[in-house]
Parts: sequence; C-alpha cells; structure tokens
Amino acid sequence: MQVHESTSVATSADLRVDGARLWDSLMQLARLGATDKGGVCRLALTELDREARDLFIAWAKEIGCTVRIDAIGNIFARRAGLRDDLAPVMTGSHIDTQPTGGKFDGNYGVLAGLEVLRTLADAGVRTQAPLEVAVWTNEEGSRFVPVMMGSGVFAGAFTLEHALEQRDREGISVRDALTAIGYAGEHKTPHAVGAYFEAHIEQGPVLEAHDTTIGVVQGALGQRWYDVTVHGMEAHAGPTPMELRRDALLVAADLIHAVNRIALDHAPHGRGTVGWLDVHPNSRNVIPGRVTLTVDLRAADDTTLTAMDNALRAACAQADARTGIAIDVEQVVYFPPQPFAAELVAAVKQGAERLGLTSMDVISGAGHDAVYLARVAPAAMIFVPCKDGISHNEIEDARADHLEAGCNVLLQAMLNAAQSTQRTPGEPGSTGA
Ligand SMILES: [Zn+2]
Repeated sequence: MQVHESTSVATSADLRVDGARLWDSLMQLARLGATDKGGVCRLALTELDREARDLFIAWAKEIGCTVRIDAIGNIFARRAGLRDDLAPVMTGSHIDTQPTGGKFDGNYGVLAGLEVLRTLADAGVRTQAPLEVAVWTNEEGSRFVPVMMGSGVFAGAFTLEHALEQRDREGISVRDALTAIGYAGEHKTPHAVGAYFEAHIEQGPVLEAHDTTIGVVQGALGQRWYDVTVHGMEAHAGPTPMELRRDALLVAADLIHAVNRIALDHAPHGRGTVGWLDVHPNSRNVIPGRVTLTVDLRAADDTTLTAMDNALRAACAQADARTGIAIDVEQVVYFPPQPFAAELVAAVKQGAERLGLTSMDVISGAGHDAVYLARVAPAAMIFVPCKDGISHNEIEDARADHLEAGCNVLLQAMLNAAQSTQRTPGEPGSTGA
C-alpha cells in the first residue's frame, strides 16, 4: 500500500496518540471484574462483560462512531470514511478474560483501536476508507468452547448455529447468554474487511529478553492437539514382579520425553507440551492400568508440523512394539499455520521504524482473533512486551510507554492502509496516488 505524497498525509504521519488517555481507559475498563490480586475476572457473556461492552460503546459513540452488533455478539464501532463504498480498515481484539486474567490481554487491542479513532477525531483527520474497531465475542474460551468464537464465526471457521448451541458448565447456551445481556445482534452475514490489524501484549518473554518495544508478527504457529491413551493393565504393586508389569504410566513417561524431544528437534519454532494426565486408577499401590495424556504440538509451517505429527505417531508405535502395550492417538484440534499478509506486516515494520522504535520479527505461539481474520482479509499483528512474558494471570503487567508505542504503530499502519487526508468540508476526497 502506497502513502500519499501530499502535505495532508505528511501531517497525519506526525500524529501521535494520547498515551495517558489510553492508560486511563485501560484502568477504567479493568475495574469491571477487578480481582484482589490486581487482575480481572470478566468471563464472556456475563453481566460484567455486558458492562464492559456498554462502556466501550459509550466511548465509541462519544466520538461519533456508529455501532453494529452481529448475531454472535461481535461489536463493530465504525468511523465513516470519505468513501464509504470502500471496505473498512479494521482493528480490534477481545474484552473477555480468563477467570484469573489480567488488564491487558485483549483489552489493549480494543482500547488501542479506540485511541486511534479518538486521535483522528481530535485532529479532524478523515480517511478514505472507513475505520472500524471490533470487539470479538468469547476469545478466551474459558466459559464457552470453542475459543475465538466471535472471530471464528465471522471468518466462517464454524457456523453461527454451532456457536450459539454451545453451553457452559451450568448448561446455559451461548444463545441464551447473548440474549440475557442484550447482545444478540441482527447481522448474520459478515461484512468485507479491507485490512485487519490487531495490537496485543506478546504473552511471551521474547521482546523483553531482547529489550525491544515492537514485535512485528509474521504469523501464527499451526497447532495439532491430541488425546493419547495408553492401555496397560492394573495390578497389585506388591505381588507383581517388575518384569511382568504392564505399566501404562511408565509408557506415558517415555511419551512425555518423546514430545519434548520432537519439539527440540524442530527448532526454533517447534513446541511440544503434555499439559494434562489422567491416571487410572490413580491409587498409591496399584500399577497404573490406563493413562490418557494430552499432547500439544506447534510449528510455524505445515511441513514441520506434519513431520512432528509423524514423529509423535512413530514414538507411540515404537513404545507399543517395545512393550506390547497398545496406544491410541486421536487428533482433536488442528489449526493450520497462518502467515500474515506481507504488505501489512511491512506497514507495521515501517511504522515502527518511522517512529524510531526498536522492533524485531516475531511469531505468535498463541491463537488470536487476527488468526481467523487472516482467513478472510489481509491481516497483521503488533506485539508489545509484557512483564516477564506473563499473561493469563492476575499479575499480568505492561508498561504505559510500550502500550503507547504499539498504539502509535497501529495508528500509522491503519492510516497507511486507509489513505488519510485532512478534513476539507465539502471535498469528496482525492483517490490517492
Ligand atoms: Zn488475547
């Protein structure tokens, strides 16, 4: 995307967001569901979520945005462009949190978008394309599964009906929860998106370790999740000699090491985690008869992810052949690796350079709404550091200057994509160079 070579755009390039206002809004939003330890508990589609949504909408309307809500409860706050026939340049994230979540995960992306619009409103800068800030429903997946529900429906990853039928642990459906908080909107079909940017705290330690302010996100790791079940035989821990045992947990222990080795063999982006074990019968003096373990494999490209999948299956087959203990491997989730749009990634990098900020290329190990948006529009992400790389935790923290810097990069990237021009009443706006 090309920048206008006109004086009006040179002016826009000098625009800066108000970092203090961004911080104040983050702190104000964080009061809704604030926890004693300084975090936030604001689960999707609860009364607290409604209050947070209402607050965001009130702020958006203050600066003249129109608001639309779709059938899965996604909110789109729109600032008109000079040419409303153009697809909007969108940014956004989520304002639901984990039960022991922080103030910044998701909330930062939404309020950074709002701050961009506030800055443009203050300066009277109009863009050719409309700008939108999206609040995606249930990104966290804590109360309702699947995760990234609102953006997933928007991008067609699964159907609206499927999402509406999901229930929480108390049996309340997404449909009923949306109605209860007044956010079951009418719009059933997603609208076109010209470009999508998402600012987010990194949720990892890489930027901080490199003393770098801006992460230029190249894409997101692909993921394969499995349930692996090891079928041994439970028996008494005393009378059963070692050589006659069929110990499922012992085999599971070998598999845990294998998963770790598979990830190390596929550096630098390979990841392998066993995060959950179910041991049957889980009794002190019984040889474990059956173990189920979860395996989470991630990689930056599908060739590597497939190689890791093959390696996992080979490790299971070898353990089976060596011990005679049967092992079932069931893949339960697959997210393909998602590269972001080259021209948008370049705009993020340029924005950081023009602002004199340190930046580095990074890859997202976690899922984000932007990963689904990348299926239907050019998309990119901007990461800023968070303290000790910690998130999904009440102690999650980020520096105000870093948040401001990321927001300024977002402003420049969105202006670049939406072709800004200074407000000239009565003028239809130039079509750009
Ligand atoms: Zn998030």
